[in-house]
Amino acid sequence: MNKELKREVDKRRTFGIISHPDAGKTTLTEKLLLYGGAIQMAGTVKSRKAARHATSDWMAMEQERGISVTSSVMKFEYNGYEINLLDTPGHQDFSEDTYRVLTAVDSGLLVIDVAKGVETQTLKLMDVCRLRSTPIITFINKLDRDGLDPFAVMADIEERLKIECVPLTWPIGMGSTFRGTWNILKHELHLFSATHGGKVQKGDIFKDINDPRLTDVLGEQVHQLREELALLEGAGTPFDLARYRKGEQTPVFFGSAINNFGVQEMLNSFVELAPPPQPRPTTTRDVSPYEDEFSGVVFKIQANMDKNHRDRIAFMRICSGKFTRGMKVKHHRVGKDFTIANATIFMAQDRTGIEEAFPGDIIGIHNHGTIKIGDTFTDKEPLKFIGIPNFSPEHFRRVQLKDPMKRKQLQKGLEQLAEEGAVQLFRPISNSDYILGAVGMLQFDVIVHRLLHEYAVNALYEPVSVTTARWIHSEDKRALDDFTDYYRSDLAIDAEGCLAYLAPNPWKLESAVERFPKILFSTTREIR
Ligand code: GDP
Repeated sequence: MNKELKREVDKRRTFGIISHPDAGKTTLTEKLLLYGGAIQMAGTVKSRKAARHATSDWMAMEQERGISVTSSVMKFEYNGYEINLLDTPGHQDFSEDTYRVLTAVDSGLLVIDVAKGVETQTLKLMDVCRLRSTPIITFINKLDRDGLDPFAVMADIEERLKIECVPLTWPIGMGSTFRGTWNILKHELHLFSATHGGKVQKGDIFKDINDPRLTDVLGEQVHQLREELALLEGAGTPFDLARYRKGEQTPVFFGSAINNFGVQEMLNSFVELAPPPQPRPTTTRDVSPYEDEFSGVVFKIQANMDKNHRDRIAFMRICSGKFTRGMKVKHHRVGKDFTIANATIFMAQDRTGIEEAFPGDIIGIHNHGTIKIGDTFTDKEPLKFIGIPNFSPEHFRRVQLKDPMKRKQLQKGLEQLAEEGAVQLFRPISNSDYILGAVGMLQFDVIVHRLLHEYAVNALYEPVSVTTARWIHSEDKRALDDFTDYYRSDLAIDAEGCLAYLAPNPWKLESAVERFPKILFSTTREIR
């Protein structure tokens, strides 16, 4: 085996954060970057987001979006590891991209607000992680505020996210009585002190739970800690690396991101426990990251919103071999050679001019629409990576043209935008409507704007009575015909020619599933 490649693969960790808005993703990201030395002072990540929030003006948001390309992948080094943190856009940026980013990572970090427990967006994002049994580490945040009992938060996670929780640290008190955490694996106490400076902070460490000084420091709370630790020991679920790696068990850490408390403890465990780049499936075989031949797959396309620069950036995850700038690869879908010269290799800020990248790394390739999501590039072997699908949209709109003469342009624009993954396009089989489906509402604004500026089409939306979509498959042709006859008015063909059922409401979907047991209703569809 190529020694350099093995060394580079083994030290890489590529992950994304799973959280509901306001749980603390931005704050935690900033602290992680601080530890990685990628930023010097707290506030850098924050201010960018604040700027974005402060404006409701779409044009201003576009400009922000130009900047956000660079924060799509945050790379930093920590303790000899090369970490790629892939941004999972939330708030109004929440979109199908957020889901697809999670198909390009090797593990996830789940951030939960201790006062809120599991929230809706967390549920959705965890569903995506479950598709690939992605290993998850959990950080329960905001212990400096009053919240739910830690046992209750874990029970909530276990019940609603269907993953076993094993705490590796344990909080002592909460809110005004928060005193720190006990590290269960290392038998260490970290004492909490609130410092808002944003600099790297280490708490006092006691090595022994019976240290008499503990009573001086914790007072009565030392009894509660000992009691709860005994309870946890009695509950008896030990941490099991294999079960974590299979996505069945999640190690849990408690802390306060804003106070930089518990973050480094979590990060230290993260780099040790989280898997390095994993083999990835293709239509023909699994590809190991240690294979010498280069391969990569595109999981996200970001359009440049600047009218004068119509290029797109395709985000490619390297799956095997070594990438060097200017290398020639095969673009299998179009059957052409492709020289990757104009690539952005995402790096920590202080290391520019890097010319190579390895499995787990992400490179951004500038192009003019020749690359689409799911495209696979390799040295030679014709491969097609799978597992980066379309996701069932959650919002729907019917497109109306202001100028009916522009129908052809509209069709072309929508088809291209759908190919890029910006939106999903459905054509009902019983009429000539254009129905768009999106995971996040902002996608609709982007489409109207891009139709106007890139295709000179003035479009607007009207509501449509569709609440959810499922892709339809069946081995049984007769069942499929019966189904098609029965639900004709709710069926549509998507941009790649696949049949979809557009359910007017969840009850109708439920009854369709019951009525047609031989039909498969999928929430994802592999991109061809
Ligand atoms: P995001 O939406 O998940 O990126 O969340 P942010 O990082 O922007 O945090 C949302 C709010 O929670 C902000 O006002 C943060 O200052 C606050 N916050 C984040 N972490 C903590 C914490 O540990 N304790 C407290 N009290 N507030 C926090």
